[in-house]
Amino acid sequence: MTTSTASHPLRPYGWNDALATDFAPHEADGLRPGRVVRVDRGSCEAVTVAEDGRVTSVRVGAGPVASPDPLLNPCTGDWVALDLDQGVARALLPRRTAFVRAVSSQRSDGQVLAANIDQVLIAVSLADELDLGRVERFLSLAWESGGQPVVVLTKADLVPDPVTLSYLVEDTERVAPGARVLPVSAATGQGMDTLAALIDGTAALLGQSGAGKSTLANALTGTDAQRVDATRDGDGKGRHTTTTRDLLPLPGGGVLIDTPGLRGVGLWEADSGVARAFTDVEALARDCRFHDCSHRSEPGCAVLAAVDEGALSLRRLENYHKLLRENERIAARSDARLNAEILRNWKQKKALGRHMMERKRGPQQ
Ligand code: GDP
Ligand code: ZN
Repeated sequence: MTTSTASHPLRPYGWNDALATDFAPHEADGLRPGRVVRVDRGSCEAVTVAEDGRVTSVRVGAGPVASPDPLLNPCTGDWVALDLDQGVARALLPRRTAFVRAVSSQRSDGQVLAANIDQVLIAVSLADELDLGRVERFLSLAWESGGQPVVVLTKADLVPDPVTLSYLVEDTERVAPGARVLPVSAATGQGMDTLAALIDGTAALLGQSGAGKSTLANALTGTDAQRVDATRDGDGKGRHTTTTRDLLPLPGGGVLIDTPGLRGVGLWEADSGVARAFTDVEALARDCRFHDCSHRSEPGCAVLAAVDEGALSLRRLENYHKLLRENERIAARSDARLNAEILRNWKQKKALGRHMMERKRGPQQ
């Protein structure tokens, strides 16, 4: 089997030269590359290349790559080295980007929701009033992942007046420095070619429920079931499954990740993401008199001056404060957890030390 990029059967799933380089040592070990479609309690479903060179979908055990650190466990979008004889994933290839939820609940410390995403499509419905604060929140998450955000204004057919539509686009652009804003309609096809052409590598879909993500996915893939059939084999080694709908190759090139885990996300630690989403505020802040200005009431605050002049909206500044505050709370919570863990380790070590000392000294009289 060749791993040359241009002709590689996994190219429609995102295979590229960099991956081929990373995979080379595993290929020498007789392993096969696979891309994780989804993970389900200790097993993962991956697309890979069968003996006959065709792309197939297999379910394999993730045991050999399982890590006590949840952030190092495979997730949708990851590339793995598969041992198809044993039906297991042997290695996880280095990630380029990742959606990491640092704190999701009391139970879990961290979680990777999706990996190796080049572009983040943020679906925002034009059927409802634009919620710019929500757009800013999604942008912070998108930037934090390392992917390039694109704000996709969906259901543009519901805004038939071109002047109104251009205002909505401009309003969105103002809160999305560095990101492209594109109105589309899956219903009429408006903007869909532009969007398809824009996708380069792997794109993921983010957005509120009802924003039109499924419809967008179906329109981009040219299907209406999001289903990719794969054959079943009877050898029992790597059970074949019948769907890869979390990870979809697009007819015009590129891959779309639409995984339930990414849908309806809140905010997690996205410190640098917030900074990237608010580069305009951060640029203004460089001219504040005090370097640690909080932009609330300080004299000589360039950010507040911009609000006074109407160059920056108070709403945007307040949302910036809010997202940073949320982040601090989340970071403090994970710090508390980390501290508890450090303390536990230290106590264990101390107990072990005492035990060793006692053994050295021999039984006490
Ligand atoms: P999801 O929850 O983000 O996956 O959203 P869906 O794709 O299920 O869409 C939610 C609703 O919006 C459905 O009733 C769709 O028919 C509708 N919808 C999606 N795209 C369009 C569009 O381009 N135009 C119009 N008018 N409605 C749309
Ligand atoms: Zn300031």
